[in-house]
Amino acid sequence: MSGKRVLLVATTVGYQIRSFGDAATRLGVRLVFASDRCDRLDDPWWDGAIPIRFHDEAQSVAAVVEACADTPPDGIVAVGDRPAVMAAKLAEALSLPGHPPQAAVVSRNKLMTREVLRAAGLHTPWFESLSLDSDVSELAQRIPYPAVVKPLALSGSRGVVRVNNVDEFRSAIDWLRNLLQTPDVRIERDEAHESALVESFIPGAEYAIEGLLTRGRFQLLAIFDKPDPLDGPFFEETIYRTPSVAPPAVQQRIVVAVMEAAAAIGLHHGAVHAECRVNEDGVYVLEVAARPIGGLCSKALRFRASRSALSEETSLEEILLRHAIGDDVSMYAREPRASGVMMIPIPRRGIYRRVEGLEAAQDVIGVGEVKITAKPDAPILPLPEGRSYLGFIFANATEPSGVDQALREAHSRLHFVIDREVALVTP
Ligand code: ADP
Repeated sequence: MSGKRVLLVATTVGYQIRSFGDAATRLGVRLVFASDRCDRLDDPWWDGAIPIRFHDEAQSVAAVVEACADTPPDGIVAVGDRPAVMAAKLAEALSLPGHPPQAAVVSRNKLMTREVLRAAGLHTPWFESLSLDSDVSELAQRIPYPAVVKPLALSGSRGVVRVNNVDEFRSAIDWLRNLLQTPDVRIERDEAHESALVESFIPGAEYAIEGLLTRGRFQLLAIFDKPDPLDGPFFEETIYRTPSVAPPAVQQRIVVAVMEAAAAIGLHHGAVHAECRVNEDGVYVLEVAARPIGGLCSKALRFRASRSALSEETSLEEILLRHAIGDDVSMYAREPRASGVMMIPIPRRGIYRRVEGLEAAQDVIGVGEVKITAKPDAPILPLPEGRSYLGFIFANATEPSGVDQALREAHSRLHFVIDREVALVTP
């Protein structure tokens, strides 16, 4: 179609990247990768990939600008939270439309997000930040329990814990300090990992919102209900289901709140993924990330350019690539069928061996695909320390409730064989 080039900024080399690769092939767009994992990219992508280091932003931006000097990209897309900040800096450096760098920095940092939303007069819980080496005795007495303790810059609910009293708060801080000392977090060299945020627990139903900003104009792509209660102590996401069954007036308020929050943060052009909680006080936006929905979840979204059954199904990745090269994507709307995904939780730590019952799960009516992403014989760790899932189940139905049923039935037919880790005892 276009012969255009899109710079894809990513830290992962997994399935989400492959979805962009497929979309690019369909569109005739050339993808150029900027990644810290270039050595692990599949052919043919690694060939022109530009190595970057997320902790060394200035040098990485300079390297990409130099690498693109002869053939500048036509657009830029970020996959993941850290890449979102880098993508914003690159967009500015390459004079491409994108989110402003400062907005991407704010949206990635939970404390800055809270400060900006409060200053804009939007619904905000009580919150305070703390240094993880400080004495928390005085703060522990002042917190309006129940509360939630969280790191400032991790994602996927990693490290997020509900605390109901002083003792739980103290233990959560000790535990979070240890989590933020683990090698995979330290390697990020992010000073945000020296602090934590504590904020009051917001009761209510939770929603995820997928949207797209085009020079400040918001386009809603989907509202996902999260039908399982998320009351803690940990906040593992399981089912995302769309369309929302919330009353139209509530959906309207959610969209307005997300638009206001995105504007307050300063997000301007590109994908946004927001999470919010709704109760009788109103809509509390938890975060607006400057990137699309993560992992394989985008496979739950299919779009069409018109209501005609003849119009072709289009993936989120295709829409994002089209948007990045400047095409008008405002005509795309999600398909009329209800759709959903279950992120299959890791039930306990251990060594994942295999799954049984896969065919039976795949046979459930409405289930489109069961994709196990855990690698056999690899160690697995549940939330709140862990950061991955065993896999994903996708389902469609005419009604949203049918999606839940299909996902839960398929999940109940799966049996995961997980061995205990054997501790080595030296005599
Ligand atoms: P992450 O970016 O890691 O997903 P969030 O701040 O969005 O971190 O929190 C993860 C989940 O924890 C949310 O989706 C929500 O279920 C829960 N949560 C976070 N903060 C609060 C809060 N103040 N009140 C109630 N639940 C919360």
